[in-house]
Amino acid sequence: MMRIKKFIYILILTLGLNQVSLGQIALENVSVISMEDSLVLQNQLVLINNGLIEVIEPSNNIEIPAKYEKIDASGKYLMPGLYDMHMHYLSDDRIDEKYMDHEVAISLSYGVLTNRLMIGRPEHLRLKKRIASGEIVGPRVYVASPQLSAISFSKVFNGLVIKDFTQGYEAVKLYSDKGYDFIKLTFGLNNESYQGIIKAANEEGIPVVGHVSRKIKLRTSIKSGQDIEHLDQYMDAIISNEAPTDEGLSAFGIFKEDPWYTLNFIDSAKLEEVIQLTVKHDIWNTPTNFLFISSFAHKRSDSELEKSPEWSLLSTEVKKELLKYRKKYWDKPPAEDLRIKYEKTRAYIIKEIFKRSGKIMAGSDAPEWLTLYGSGLHRELKNFVYSVGLSPYEALQTATVKPAEYLNENKSGMVKMGYNANLVLLKDNPLENIEAIENIEGIVLNGNWISKTKLQVILNNSQQALNSAPLRSNEK
Ligand SMILES: [Zn+2]
Repeated sequence: MMRIKKFIYILILTLGLNQVSLGQIALENVSVISMEDSLVLQNQLVLINNGLIEVIEPSNNIEIPAKYEKIDASGKYLMPGLYDMHMHYLSDDRIDEKYMDHEVAISLSYGVLTNRLMIGRPEHLRLKKRIASGEIVGPRVYVASPQLSAISFSKVFNGLVIKDFTQGYEAVKLYSDKGYDFIKLTFGLNNESYQGIIKAANEEGIPVVGHVSRKIKLRTSIKSGQDIEHLDQYMDAIISNEAPTDEGLSAFGIFKEDPWYTLNFIDSAKLEEVIQLTVKHDIWNTPTNFLFISSFAHKRSDSELEKSPEWSLLSTEVKKELLKYRKKYWDKPPAEDLRIKYEKTRAYIIKEIFKRSGKIMAGSDAPEWLTLYGSGLHRELKNFVYSVGLSPYEALQTATVKPAEYLNENKSGMVKMGYNANLVLLKDNPLENIEAIENIEGIVLNGNWISKTKLQVILNNSQQALNSAPLRSNEK
């Protein structure tokens, strides 16, 4: 632990990064994508001071005050920093927790400046404080509680097993008290447990997020105001009464044969009803769609994986662990026409919810199935364009203004005067081509400029550390 701390400290010194001492920066001749609308303001001067966006003006209107570090951003595009609204770290359970600081740093080089961690631990709460105070360099962190589940399904289960109303009620009070930002639900909760959880969450004013139990069903969870991950139980809620089974492709049904045939029994009235209900109750969905489509509809080929940035990041045994269900599934995959129908149905649900209420957020579910920090979020945004059919502007909303709205941040998620300076500078215009998010020239993190070269140093250091991280013995 000491060695890592010392290393991070040296990194801060050598890069001149310190999130407490806030910089004064002038980005010259930049094209601003405010994300307030889909317009691009060309040839702007953006002044950043004390962590905030101080001025946005046409470049020839004002002089740059002395002391400001000038950055020539001619022909480049400035947009808000991206949010990944569904993440986990490998150090949660698969590698030693001393590697956490390295995992944290990686998403910065992809312009992902906020991480929402979905199964929280006390270490994450400490991490949040360490980053906020400037002790280490990393994205802003939000932390969901340890999971509330009816079953303890893993050797390293991080959460509480909930069997009745009182246990549910008390677990929420406990985690809310400890400072977690959300209550995270996973598998198999019964109705009594769920009612206890919802009652306490309403009293505490803490949002409930996560999976939808098959025992509770989608309509109840929507009416209870729960926010939903992975579009859980939507595929089950739209099956017609004539189908041979009522188990759909939401949860573990996806690994079985019969649930795939429910795709031939989709009830369009039910489909419309659950979309309307979602919109009416203001439910936020983080579909983690790339993960589901690339895992179960269109296989990521071996060569695609080997060419991905994730491949060089991790050791062989960690990669093998992350991909263990891939082989099992693709040894005997469902028929292609069903897999295409699966993709189209999920796309339809996401697009309709987005068009009617906008309450869709981008999340990668990193590191599952080898979709990692930052790069996983880029794939989710591309999926929203190519598979779901959103425009690049709409896709970018799901990782900027939408999460800011969800998190009640009234000065983040846009490039506007007086807003927090968490920004990404891109070489090309992402509104024309979503692939432009890959080409990052630098970021502004809490008011500090970090160039592409510095980001590469951070990435290389993290890569070196993670490469040598062995799989934890409890997973072997
Ligand atoms: Zn997850």
